[in-house]
Amino acid sequence: MIQGPQPLPVSLRISVTDRCQVRCFYCMPPEGVPACDHADVLRFEQIVRFVRAVKDHLGLSKAHLTGGEPLVRAGIVDLVSMLAAEGVDDLALTTNGLRLGEMAGDLRAAGLNRVNVSLDSLAEHTFASLTGGGSLQDVLTGIETALAEGLTPVKLNVVVLKGVNDHEVVGLAEWGLQRGCWVRFLELMPIGFAQRQHKDLFVPASEIRKRLEQIFTLEPLAETCGASSRNFMATARDSAGRSGIIGFITPETEPFCRGCRRLRLTSTGRLIACLAQDHGAEIRELLGDAGPAAEQELKETVTHLLGLKGPRTSFPEDRVMSTVGG
Ligand code: SAM
Ligand code: SF4
Repeated sequence: MIQGPQPLPVSLRISVTDRCQVRCFYCMPPEGVPACDHADVLRFEQIVRFVRAVKDHLGLSKAHLTGGEPLVRAGIVDLVSMLAAEGVDDLALTTNGLRLGEMAGDLRAAGLNRVNVSLDSLAEHTFASLTGGGSLQDVLTGIETALAEGLTPVKLNVVVLKGVNDHEVVGLAEWGLQRGCWVRFLELMPIGFAQRQHKDLFVPASEIRKRLEQIFTLEPLAETCGASSRNFMATARDSAGRSGIIGFITPETEPFCRGCRRLRLTSTGRLIACLAQDHGAEIRELLGDAGPAAEQELKETVTHLLGLKGPRTSFPEDRVMSTVGG
């Protein structure tokens, strides 16, 4: 029998909490978002059951823990150990970095492979006002500790905002590349609280690129199917010759929908195929049941949602980044 091509493995983003200790103004309002009930938050066993089902059924290229802020979820290091024991090859975590200095060693020892750290500014005042009181120094210490512990590549995520940090893109790139980090610039998405401010704050990647090209030569790297970032080898034109990887994540000007196999699991057990679509399924009940019928239904739900993926439309109005997991 002739077999067709195997489907590409799935990439998971798992939000482990909707809570966060800071309030980036484009992500959450100063008063925060109504926190969901503790009883509604997925237990670690349920998250592991989901990961196992996807891995066995369709193959798993990556599991990415996010939030809210994943490092404020109690016992997160235990969850990392449990997922590493499932044989997830690329186990990553996206964090604001505030607690990374104290936790990077334990996370690495538990089996985490790498981290993405949000770093929107290197100016203390801008950083503090942008995050609603976050300490830049703690994040920088977190990044240095992650590098020292081998949680590499450390990828820095910068959401570029007009009049707030767009003048910093070259400085941020230089700071990151000097330390061996990848530096990725994100276009602001009109999602949740960013919707109201989007028109005023949005900076297209083409503009960010123009600024960077005054200093760096950017050579495109081969694209990975379904990847969200377009990556370049950047080399500074001056004699110091700093080089490293710079990426652009362009959900607005060049959506990366083709080949996407990403699924998102929210902290309360809603499975979402795409940030820009309403399709989703509540799977918390299924994850609480270890029986074969529930497992079969779970696999069918995952396959069904993957089948609904299509080119992006607009973002659903009520989607909140800290709840869905960016
Ligand atoms: N708390 C962690 C952090 O900040 O890295 C993980 C969760 S956060 C929601 C994940 C990423 O989404 C961060 O890099 C954040 O800057 C980004 N993000 C949040 N709202 C966004 C928006 N409207 N457009 C683009 N990126 C956004
Ligand atoms: Fe918290 Fe991350 Fe949202 Fe900032 S972007 S408020 S750190 S969840």
